[in-house]
Amino acid sequence: MNIILLGPPGAGKGTQSAGLVERHGMKQLSTGDMLRAAVKAQSPVGLRAKEVMDRGELVSDEIVSDLIDANLTAMEPETGAIFDGYPRTAAQADDLDALLAKHGRSLDCVIELEVNVDALVERITGRFSCAKCGALYHDTANPPQKEGVCDVCGSTEFKRRPDDNEETVRTRMDEYRAKTAPILPGYEKRGIVSRVDGMAGIEEVARAIDGILG
Ligand code: AMP
Repeated sequence: MNIILLGPPGAGKGTQSAGLVERHGMKQLSTGDMLRAAVKAQSPVGLRAKEVMDRGELVSDEIVSDLIDANLTAMEPETGAIFDGYPRTAAQADDLDALLAKHGRSLDCVIELEVNVDALVERITGRFSCAKCGALYHDTANPPQKEGVCDVCGSTEFKRRPDDNEETVRTRMDEYRAKTAPILPGYEKRGIVSRVDGMAGIEEVARAIDGILG
C-alpha cells in the first residue's frame, strides 16, 4: 500500500506515521525529516534549505521530489510507503504520480487529518522529541512517563524543532492553506480521500486509520 497523510503542521502526521511503521511494517517518507537530516549533515541540499525552513516557507519542489525519488529507489518494492509532508504543492502532486509510476507503485489512499487550526499552535509549540531515538512527546498531551526520561530508550536528552515557534508556525499554516489544501480536490475526484478526526486521541486516530486501510 502507498498512502499520503495530509494535514496542516501539527495535525499528527509524524505520530501516526510512526504508528503505521510499527503496526504494518510500512516505511515513512517524511520530506521534513529528510531535510532536517540534510541540514544537520550540512549537505548542499541542507545548506540551501535551512533558511527557507527556518522561515516556515516551502523549499523547492525539485529538491523534495528528488529526495522522494532517491528514497523510493532504495526501498524494497513490497514495502508500503507513507508519504508524510509530501506532496505539499500541485507540482509535487504531479511529481508523485510520475515517481510512483516510475517505481511501479500506485497510490491507494489519501488520509486527511482534520484539525482545528486554532488548537494547532498549542500542539506544535508544546512538542519535543528524544534526541537519541526520535520518540515524539508533547508537554501536556503526551509527556514521558517519567519526567525527563525517554520511555523508549531511557535517554535524558530531548530536542525541539527550531521552526516550532509561534511566528514560524503561522507562516507554515499559511503555506498549507495557500499551496497544500488546494491539491485535495484532485485526489477527491479520483475517489481516494478519507477523512479522520485528527483532534481525537492518538490511539483513536490510529484505530480510525487502520479501519480505512482495512
Ligand atoms: P515538516 O516536518 O513536514 O513540518 O517540514 C518542515 C519544513 O520542511 C517545512 O516547513 C518546509 O520548510 C520543509 N518541507 C518539508 N516537506 C516539504 C515539501 N514537501 N515541500 C516543500 N517544503 C517542505
